[in-house]
Amino acid sequence: MSNFNHLSRRRFIATASATALSSVLLKACGNPPEDKPTITSANVARINLPADQVPETTKVKLGYLPIVEAAPLVIAKEKGFFAKYGMTDVDISKQANWGAARDNVKIGSAAGGIDGGQWQMPMPYLISEGIITDNLKVPMYVLLQLNTQGNAIAVADKHKGKGLTLKVEKAKEFFEKTKAEGAKFKAAYTFPKANQEFWIRYWLAANGVDPDTDIELLTVPAAQTVANMKTGTMDAFSTGDPWPYRIVKEKIGFISALTAEIWKAHPEEYLAMRADWVDKNPKATKSMLKAIMEAQQWCDNFDNRKELIQIVSTKNYFGVDPEILQEPMMGKYDMGDGRTIDDKSMAPLYWKDAKGNVSYPYQSHDLWFLTESVRWGFLPKDSLAKAKDLIKKVNREDLWREAAKEAGFSDIPTSTSRGIEEFFDGTKFDPENPQAYLDSLKIKKA
Ligand code: CA
Repeated sequence: MSNFNHLSRRRFIATASATALSSVLLKACGNPPEDKPTITSANVARINLPADQVPETTKVKLGYLPIVEAAPLVIAKEKGFFAKYGMTDVDISKQANWGAARDNVKIGSAAGGIDGGQWQMPMPYLISEGIITDNLKVPMYVLLQLNTQGNAIAVADKHKGKGLTLKVEKAKEFFEKTKAEGAKFKAAYTFPKANQEFWIRYWLAANGVDPDTDIELLTVPAAQTVANMKTGTMDAFSTGDPWPYRIVKEKIGFISALTAEIWKAHPEEYLAMRADWVDKNPKATKSMLKAIMEAQQWCDNFDNRKELIQIVSTKNYFGVDPEILQEPMMGKYDMGDGRTIDDKSMAPLYWKDAKGNVSYPYQSHDLWFLTESVRWGFLPKDSLAKAKDLIKKVNREDLWREAAKEAGFSDIPTSTSRGIEEFFDGTKFDPENPQAYLDSLKIKKA
């Protein structure tokens, strides 16, 4: 349906504009420089743009993972927003897992990889610094936040009734017992040292459970999670929708906490690109950003969410039963342990949330991810002193601003900081003083 609409729309642009084409082509003669003599819908889209906003290329290859975080990328393509801004050849490429995405961006699209796409934090920083790419530094730019919220921690059914909820006071004994018996609680995520591991660690540590000594942490590819929870290879799992809800619906587990409960309006996943691609194609980068921003606004109109689900759940994209996404997308969660949540402000959000703009990549959030990396010993202690310079290099909020202004979007944040953040346990993170946050935490490695 969506594919059909999209194709029809493109055909419509091509035919409807055909009569006006000769005059348009005359006016645009010789420019933009990359125009081929053949009349294509791509050229029409490019000609309709202001001359200084014509992208250097119409082509880009973006990686994504089949979770709600990817919705703005899929929608930008399927609803024609990429084409509207002249990016008529955007390849949205499903990645087998986060490791594959990393390997593909390392080689770039010319070698069969990708130019950028969807990332957990702080992956673009770790790739830029060569930390997860065998010391090969591949400079990347963080350009836009895809979403806030939309993730959860799911726990296996056999642990129901043990007090494993947002606050786990009642489960303290359980963690002590499993540790003493040498059968530690196993919590999994899809890629180490990024969002999903941070959410598990934050949740447990805030509850007085040391994730490094009291439990076992492991990496499990998303596709194997349901099976691993069924067989007991893991007890808990942190990931994006539709996985947590699927675990509840298949009656193999329950949701102990939504990440939106751990940290309301928390930063989640991002669009980041190879720096060499952006430096070579600054206008195409901004075209892409405008398209994704417009898609994010479309996604945040709850009247569109039914259509959004229809589009993303197709075989080409997530390949899931649309029913699994219906309730989480509206902020309705059957937590599976008797608890229910019905609150649109707890749903995955793409343009606006309780704290303001979602799409804008706040530098203060990058700083939290780097600070949290220091907290758990993933990055050396002196990284905190270097963090500000590194963030200035990697986070290109300036390009986001330029794109938003060119497109005439409102809600442009005035600061690179969202200010003081507060977590469910009352802990505060002041981006002006990350050391004070580290000092305030009882459980940490640093
Ligand atoms: Ca996620």
